[in-house]
Amino acid sequence: MTSALVGVIGTALLVSSAHRRAGVARRVHRYLAVGAGLAVLTTVAGVVAAASATHHHRGVGNLLALGVAASSALLLAGLLTLPGSAPTPARALRYLLDALVIAAAGWFVGWVALSRPTALLGDHAPTWCRPLLLPMAIGALAFGVSVMVGMRARPPRGPLVWAGAGVTTVALAGAALAGGVCQQWGAAIGTGAIAMPLAVAVIALAARRADRPAPPPWLDQPGDGDDRDALTGRRGAGYAFVPMAAMAASAVYHLLRGGDFDLAGILAGSLVGFALVGRQYFALRDVRAYADRLRDREAHFRELAHTDPLTGLANRRGLLTALHDEAAAGSTAVLLFLDLDGFKNVNDMRGHDVGDAVLVEVGQRLRMNLRPGDVAARLGGDEFAVLMWARPHEAKGAAGRLLRVLGRPYEQPSGTIFLSVSIGLASCATAPDVTTLLRNADLALRSAKQHGKNRFELYDAEYDHQLRRRTTLEHELRGAIERDELYLRFQPVVMMPSVRPVGAETLLRWHHPQLGNVGPDEFIPLAEECGMIGKLGSWVLHQACHQLSRWLADGHDVWVSVNVSPRELHAAGYVEQVKEALRAHRVPPQRLVLEVTEHAVATDVEEMMRQLRDLRAAGVRIALDDFGAGYSSLGQLRNLPIDILKIDHSLVVEPMMRVIVELGHQLGMEVIAEGIGERSQMAMVVKTGCHLGQGYLSGWPVPAEHFEARLQSLSPAAAIPTSRDPADEARHAQDLGQVDSSHEMRQA
Ligand code: C2E
Ligand code: MG
Ligand code: MG
Repeated sequence: MTSALVGVIGTALLVSSAHRRAGVARRVHRYLAVGAGLAVLTTVAGVVAAASATHHHRGVGNLLALGVAASSALLLAGLLTLPGSAPTPARALRYLLDALVIAAAGWFVGWVALSRPTALLGDHAPTWCRPLLLPMAIGALAFGVSVMVGMRARPPRGPLVWAGAGVTTVALAGAALAGGVCQQWGAAIGTGAIAMPLAVAVIALAARRADRPAPPPWLDQPGDGDDRDALTGRRGAGYAFVPMAAMAASAVYHLLRGGDFDLAGILAGSLVGFALVGRQYFALRDVRAYADRLRDREAHFRELAHTDPLTGLANRRGLLTALHDEAAAGSTAVLLFLDLDGFKNVNDMRGHDVGDAVLVEVGQRLRMNLRPGDVAARLGGDEFAVLMWARPHEAKGAAGRLLRVLGRPYEQPSGTIFLSVSIGLASCATAPDVTTLLRNADLALRSAKQHGKNRFELYDAEYDHQLRRRTTLEHELRGAIERDELYLRFQPVVMMPSVRPVGAETLLRWHHPQLGNVGPDEFIPLAEECGMIGKLGSWVLHQACHQLSRWLADGHDVWVSVNVSPRELHAAGYVEQVKEALRAHRVPPQRLVLEVTEHAVATDVEEMMRQLRDLRAAGVRIALDDFGAGYSSLGQLRNLPIDILKIDHSLVVEPMMRVIVELGHQLGMEVIAEGIGERSQMAMVVKTGCHLGQGYLSGWPVPAEHFEARLQSLSPAAAIPTSRDPADEARHAQDLGQVDSSHEMRQA
C-alpha cells in the first residue's frame, strides 16, 4: 500500500510538472506522467487480481503484461526525449540502435537463464504468458538506453541514468508482477508490486532534475557529437563487445548443458547482428558527413588565410602559394611589385579611414584591369603585387596601363586624392626560385623609385651587381679606418694665372686590398645612407687639421678645405666637434674652410643656416661647393651665410661666369672656378675676373708631401706663364689677401 502511495505521489509530481511546462518539455513530461500513471494502475490491478484468487490468472497476467509494456514504452519515450539525453531524433535513433545491441544480448542471456535446461526460475518460468516478452524486451531496451545515455549524454548525466534505471525497473518489476500473477507466484508479485511504484517515484525525481534549459546551439550541433565520436574512436568498442561476449558465453554454456535454440533465442541473436549492421551504417554516414564538413571548413579557412581582409585580394601567403604553383607548373609569368608613391601622406593628412578607402579602391582598380588567371595581391601597407601570365613585353604594356589607371584621382567624401604608383617587374625566367623572383621584383621596384617614381622598371641583372657591390662596400667600409685603408689627397687651389697655390681641398681616398680604389662619389653617399659618414668626416677633419697645423708651423701661408656632407652638418654637436678639432691641432679657425654642397643648402635651408652661422661665428669659413650643379638660384645667394663660392665645372662657361663672379664679389664672397682642365679655360675664367681656380691644369689631388714640396718651391718662376700682365699678378696678390682676411673683415 505504502509503495503504491509513493507511486501515486511520483505520478502526481510528473503531472504537475507537465502542467507547468510548455512545448516539447510538456510533451516529454506528459509521456512520463501517463506512463507512470499506467504503471501505478497496473500495480494496483495486479495486487487486486492476486488478492481476488481468480481462475483466469493467465488471462489477467497477460493483460497486466500488456499494461506494463504500454507504461514502460511511454516512460522509455519520455526518457529518450528528456532534455540532455538525445539532442536530435537522429541521435535518439542511434541510442536506440546501440541500446538494441545491449538489450538483445541481455534478452538472450535472460532467455538462456529462464529456458531449459538452466531454467533458473524452475516451475515458476512463465512459459504460458507470452505477452510477458514485451515488457521484458522493453526493460532490456530501457537498460540499453540507460547505459548509452550514461556513456554519451551531455553531462551532468546522473539524473538521466537514474531515470533510465527507473524505466528499466518499471519494465522488469512489472514483468515480474505480471508473471507472478500468471504463475500465481506470491514472491514475484510482492517484489514487482513494491519495486514498480518506487521506480515511478525515482523517475519523477530524476525527471525534475534532468529538466534543464536547452543548451545554446553552438554547444551541440546536430550530428557533431556522433561524427566526432566516430572519428576519434571515443565510441568505445566495449558497448558492443561486452554484450557480444556475454551472448557468446551464454550460448556456449547453453549448448554445453545440452540446450537447444528455439525461435526466441535465434531472434535475439539475429537482432544483435542487425542492430550492429544498422549502427555501423549510421556510423559510416556520420563519418562521411563529418569528413565533408571538415573539408568545407578547411577550404573556408584556407581561403581566409590567403585573403587580404581589407581589399579582398590575395595576401602575401596567397601570392606565395600562387608563385609556388607557378614554379611547379614551370610556365612563364611576370611578377609585378607595386608601391603607391607618397601614400603615407594620405594616412597622415587625411586619416587612416580615408587611407583604407583608397587602398580598397586601388584593389578594385587592380582587379578590373587584370586578365583571367592573373593574381592580384596586397602584400601589406601600400604594397601590391600582380602575378601575370604574360611575356615580359606584354607585362610592360600592362604595367603602363596600371600606371595610368592607378594614377587617376581617387574621389573621397573628404576630397580628391592624387597618387601615383611605382612598379617593378621581374620575369619568372630570370629567377631560379621564388625567393629570387621576389627579390628581383623588389629590386626593380626600388630602381623605379630611385629613378623618380610614377614609372615601371623591368628587373636587370645590373641591379643585382650594384646591390651586391653596395653590400660589400658597406661591409668593408666599416673597418676601413681601423685597417688603415683611407688616406687623403690635397688638390691645390691656385691664384690665376700664376697658379700659385693658396689653399688645398682635402679629398678622401679609399684603397681596398681586393676591391682596389673606390671613389668618394661611390662610398660617400653609401656612408651617408648607412650612418658611417659622421665617423669618416671626423677622421678627415682631424687628419686635415693635423696636416694644416704642420704646414702653418713650417711658415706656409695656406688654408685647407674639408668637404662636409649634409648629414654631418645636421648632427647635433657638429659645431663643437669642429671647434674641438681646431683646438686640438692649434689651427686658427680662418685657415679652415668647410665645403657644403649646394644641394644640402637647398633641401633644408633653415636648419642649415643655423649651423652655418654657428660655424662662422666660431671663425671657420664656409664654401658653397658645386654651385650651379643643383637647384639653388642666384637670388638665394644673398641670404646664405657663406664666404666662398665654388663654381661647378659645368658652369665654367664665359657668360655665366661673368654674372656669377660679379655677383659673388658684390656679396663679398671669394669665387673659385672648379674643374679647370685647360689653359683656354683658365684664360677665359681670368678674363671674367675670377682669379682663384682648382682643376687638373693647376694640380691634381696629390699626397700631402707633394703639395708641401710645391709650397716650398714657391717662386714666380714655377708658375705656368699663362699671362705676363703685371696688373693681373697684382690683382692675384690682392685676391689671396682677400681670402685670408675675409674673416677678419667679417669680424670687423
Ligand atoms: P668636390 O668636393 O666637388 O671635389 C672636387 C672633385 O672634382 C674631386 O673629385 C676632384 O678630384 C675632381 N676634380 C678636380 N679637378 C678636376 C678637373 O679638372 N676636372 C674634373 N672633371 N674633376 C676634377 P673626387 O675626389 O672624386 O671627389 C668627388 C666628391 O666626393 C667631392 O666633390 C666631394 O663632394 C666628395 N668628397 C671627397 N672627399 C670627401 C670627404 O672627405 N667628405 C665628404 N663629405 N665628401 C667628400
Ligand atoms: Mg669640394
Ligand atoms: Mg666641387
